[in-house]
Amino acid sequence: MNRINRLNPRLANQIAAGEVVERPASVLKELLENSLDAGALRVDIDVEQGGKKLLRVRDDGSGIHRDDLALALSRHATSKISRPEDLEAIASLGFRGEALASIGSVSRLELSSRAADASSDTGWAVRAEGRQMEAALEPCQHGVGATVEVRDLFFNTPARKKFLKTERTEFGRIDDVLKRLALSRFDVQFNMRHNQRTVHELRPAATELEQRRRIGLVCGPAFQENSVQVDQRAAGLHLRGWISLPAFSRSQADLQYFYVNGRIVRDKIVSHAVRQAYQDVLYHGRHPAYVLFLELDPAAVDVNVHPTKHEVRFRDSRLVHDFLFRSLHRELADIKPEVQAADQTNPDAAQTAPERANGQNFLPLRDFRPVREAGAEYRGSMQSAPAGSTQGAPEQYARLFSGDEEAPPLGYAIAQLHGVYILAQNKDGLIIVDMHAAHERITYERFKQALREERLKRQTLLVPLSLAVSEAEAECAETHRDSLLAFGLELERVAAEAIVVRQIPALLKDADIEQLARDVLSDLLEFGASDRLENRQNELLSTMACHGSVRANRRLGIDEMNALLRDMEDTERSGQCNHGRPTWVWQSMTELDKLFLRGR
Ligand code: ADP
Ligand code: MG
Repeated sequence: MNRINRLNPRLANQIAAGEVVERPASVLKELLENSLDAGALRVDIDVEQGGKKLLRVRDDGSGIHRDDLALALSRHATSKISRPEDLEAIASLGFRGEALASIGSVSRLELSSRAADASSDTGWAVRAEGRQMEAALEPCQHGVGATVEVRDLFFNTPARKKFLKTERTEFGRIDDVLKRLALSRFDVQFNMRHNQRTVHELRPAATELEQRRRIGLVCGPAFQENSVQVDQRAAGLHLRGWISLPAFSRSQADLQYFYVNGRIVRDKIVSHAVRQAYQDVLYHGRHPAYVLFLELDPAAVDVNVHPTKHEVRFRDSRLVHDFLFRSLHRELADIKPEVQAADQTNPDAAQTAPERANGQNFLPLRDFRPVREAGAEYRGSMQSAPAGSTQGAPEQYARLFSGDEEAPPLGYAIAQLHGVYILAQNKDGLIIVDMHAAHERITYERFKQALREERLKRQTLLVPLSLAVSEAEAECAETHRDSLLAFGLELERVAAEAIVVRQIPALLKDADIEQLARDVLSDLLEFGASDRLENRQNELLSTMACHGSVRANRRLGIDEMNALLRDMEDTERSGQCNHGRPTWVWQSMTELDKLFLRGR
């Protein structure tokens, strides 16, 4: 047996580096976080060979005092916290004092800086090169701020270098890091070059318009056009940002940015809440896209859970889950047809229109807005202009063009196409509705409504089902007894580790009860909430709605079509069918004109 000896600092740092510095992208993350913590408003990033050769981050932040430069490179040295209490409410991105030491132990690192309060007008630089941790101070030219240059990552740890991927892959990850941070701070300018070529030039974005632009640059124009803004507060929590319209879903969960107090995180509670909010409007297996910022009291969240700080722990995760779910669910329900004169209000439409004219001409409408009140008003006006007959139609068109503010967003039906689509015209152009999809959604929402209002019908099992469960699950069943009962599920704890299922929701009488009960309990344990009962019920309702809706190839009269349009305007989530496909698309007159090269 070897005797115990104390690790030398270099080895200790390299071990720590194993946690923090996985690849060039993780280096960039640490450097950018430091710049942001230093209050930088402009950051310039230079990358060579996917960051394997060089990563340089220069900022205009507060800089580092000359006498602190060497210290900054040593382990457990930080300016961000000093007392145990500080750990309780961390407001900076960094606080562990490990990053520079770790990076310096596996690369050739140079740190140069001039502190904002420095009296001299030169900067100072220190170097670390793997083994040589003793840093010598040298004067250099530097403006206020700091530059960290990291060369030859893993030059002294060949085993780790082997794990690096191609230049392209590594750069892709670097790019992801930049995007994530660029979305977290709209007020900061980010410039990035790769192999001397400019990749990003993101100017500070103060206004909402500029912020949307940055979103477009980072997440792509499609997301920018197919997302709505969210802004909700409750119980000391503030959620803001952008979420995708359900018709714009992705096959991967790759366009999902969630920030807690400015820090990007991946969190089970969060993704579960978002998924749950979307589950009713998204096609199975598709993923929503979002950029969301949650602000809450720093003391209500523990960020010291993981060395890379990608995870957080909420003190009250139930509250956070509920708040997220409710906020997003509400926003999604509010997305209803309202045609905006998009070409005038959307500053980017001018750029995107030609693109659309080339290929996909008909897109799901992008400017959805909540119109609950508008829908109600519309009802009233319907009575004064009965839509009960085809003869009524010309009169309605007259209203359309008389500048009547109350003209319905989806306009009036003019024809049915091949028994599948309804063609309608509104103030601004042409609307095409997938009749079956639209009707299915309306029926489904009605079913759900009925279900909510009637309270749930329960069915008592002739033979109660006994289940062996863990003690935690049994306890959980006991605690949530009443809320489960409200959903129609009666679970009774009969022993320390046993429960009995006595009643189930009548709608689910054909389901696998044992599986359902177990799934519900495990959800409750993990998330403090279970959507399974509701999901299963919604699945059934959805199936019923599908069978109960107008099939294709049924002739509809003009008035029937108009009634359907009005119902759509009045129905929550009517922009997508129950499978998340769009129920209608829209083409403005301007865009039609472009197709025919009119007015050129
Ligand atoms: P941490 O960020 O956890 O404090 P680091 O090892 O990343 O630890 O950085 C150590 C210290 O160096 C920081 O606390 C900060 O005072 C200083 N520092 C690092 N980068 C910068 C920068 N770009 N501008 C100003 N100070 C910096
Ligand atoms: Mg740091």
